[in-house]
Amino acid sequence: MNSKPPAKNPQAAKAPRKKRPPRSKLKKSEIEAMFFRLREARPEPQSELNYANPYTLVVAVALSAQATDVGVNKATRALFAKVTTPAQMVALGEARLIEHIRTIGLFRTKAKNVIALSNMLIDDFGGDVPADREQLEKLPGVGRKTASVVANVAFGEPTIAVDTHIFRVANRTGLGPGKTPNAVEEILERIVPDHYKLHAHHWLILQGRYICKARKPDCPNCPLDDLCKFTKKTLAS
Ligand code: SF4
Repeated sequence: MNSKPPAKNPQAAKAPRKKRPPRSKLKKSEIEAMFFRLREARPEPQSELNYANPYTLVVAVALSAQATDVGVNKATRALFAKVTTPAQMVALGEARLIEHIRTIGLFRTKAKNVIALSNMLIDDFGGDVPADREQLEKLPGVGRKTASVVANVAFGEPTIAVDTHIFRVANRTGLGPGKTPNAVEEILERIVPDHYKLHAHHWLILQGRYICKARKPDCPNCPLDDLCKFTKKTLAS
């Protein structure tokens, strides 16, 4: 009797393993419950950045990189009182724009980008802001996150731009665990139910900003406490 084990199929051994897409740690019913509660708390969430139209929204979001919304709003109050179109911004010019935004981090680079994106909007888009995320990403200083926020807030696209707050909330709760913002965005786009997608971005940001704060999450007062998988929840004092 031949006791040798059957020879391995060399083709099968070489076949690359299919990478499983990252998964939420929450069950479908828990994800539904999470967004149901976030919607109950804030039925119509709004951006906390001040803006007057899609153009001023692009400018405000571009200025908000590594800055707080409160700081950006302070700087743009006077600016948006006189500038609401790309042509007006170009007429204002980089030097005077800097005077308005010098309290915001990276103001020189941001001023350059705002003037450049205003020129591009005039030259390539007839002075209008494109609604398409890929077109938005072509604008100087407008990355994937900014484009996603503008597409969502100004044009009602169900995009989820992952900022520092969403990254933290998604990882702590287990909703969308991921090592990079892109990885978290990929999983959120797949698992957030369609009927919650339009506002998911704002609900998660506000959850991170006011409850699931970076240094000390307010777990005892969190509406997601029983769903959240974070292992270091804070206790009531
Ligand atoms: S229970 Fe705590 S860690 Fe979990 S989402 Fe709420 S505040 Fe954040």
